[in-house]
Amino acid sequence: MKTIKKIKEFTLLAESIRKRGKTIGLVPTMGFLHEGHLRLIRMARKQCEVVVLSIFVNPAQFGPGEDFEKYPRDINRDRHLAEKEGVDYVFYPAASEMYKSEHKTFVEVEGLGDIMCGAYRQGHFKGVATVVLKLLNITKANRAYFGEKDYQQMMIVKRMVDDLNVDVEIVRVPTVREEDGLAMSSRNRYLDRKERENAGILYKCLNKAKDMIKGGEKNLRVVRTEMIKELEKNRYISRVDYIEFRNPLNLQEISEAGESGRSILVAVAAWIGSTRLIDNMVIKL
Ligand code: AMP
Repeated sequence: MKTIKKIKEFTLLAESIRKRGKTIGLVPTMGFLHEGHLRLIRMARKQCEVVVLSIFVNPAQFGPGEDFEKYPRDINRDRHLAEKEGVDYVFYPAASEMYKSEHKTFVEVEGLGDIMCGAYRQGHFKGVATVVLKLLNITKANRAYFGEKDYQQMMIVKRMVDDLNVDVEIVRVPTVREEDGLAMSSRNRYLDRKERENAGILYKCLNKAKDMIKGGEKNLRVVRTEMIKELEKNRYISRVDYIEFRNPLNLQEISEAGESGRSILVAVAAWIGSTRLIDNMVIKL
């Protein structure tokens, strides 16, 4: 496994791999790897001849006052885990390599980037779409792997590659959870012991929605109210940003559970102490 920090060097390498007719799979991450990331890598390893893991804590997707500085980082541990999973190349650029001082171009996915998490984290998805497009261009990936854990992000990336005719297949990977249902995330590291013990509440509350909807509840406002009650009962939940019901195919809002065969994306963003967590579930009727 080789670690490459320079864009030029990576692009030349990617060109030669493509010339040899080999498929490149890209797994873009911000590092501090956990089992969720490893699931993406394993899927790429199965489907592609050359696997590239990018590790880049992207300053453009963090707002002022967010956790860019304190975001957990451990490149040596990440490299060790990546090597064990059979990653071929780690792309690990510095921020100054990715964003030259004269950088002026950003990608915005209208209508998808300013709802849900985008309404609470202004500019976040603009930063995400921009860095993903850059990574796709640099690595010349045939396939790129994204987790359903960040459902909105995955949909935004899909929309972007379709709209901008980027020749890559976006592969989605189901959410990997801890035993109590908490979706794995590098940010779980911020939780203290008590907060961690209580963090399974998000998944519990998604399951509550599933039970209600599958049990015949059509009015999603009623479902939301019950979910909020469940969350607010827990004293470690300091704030709920949103609970939303969306069409999983296009993220349009849904107010009524429809007929069977339809699916509903239930997405939640809530704070445990000073840590913001997100989770979601697709409920098939
Ligand atoms: P991050 O390093 O948090 O930016 O995540 C990098 C990629 O891993 C994204 O596509 C995430 O959706 C995916 N990912 C993160 N956590 C999980 C998880 N628990 N299960 C599946 N995929 C995940």
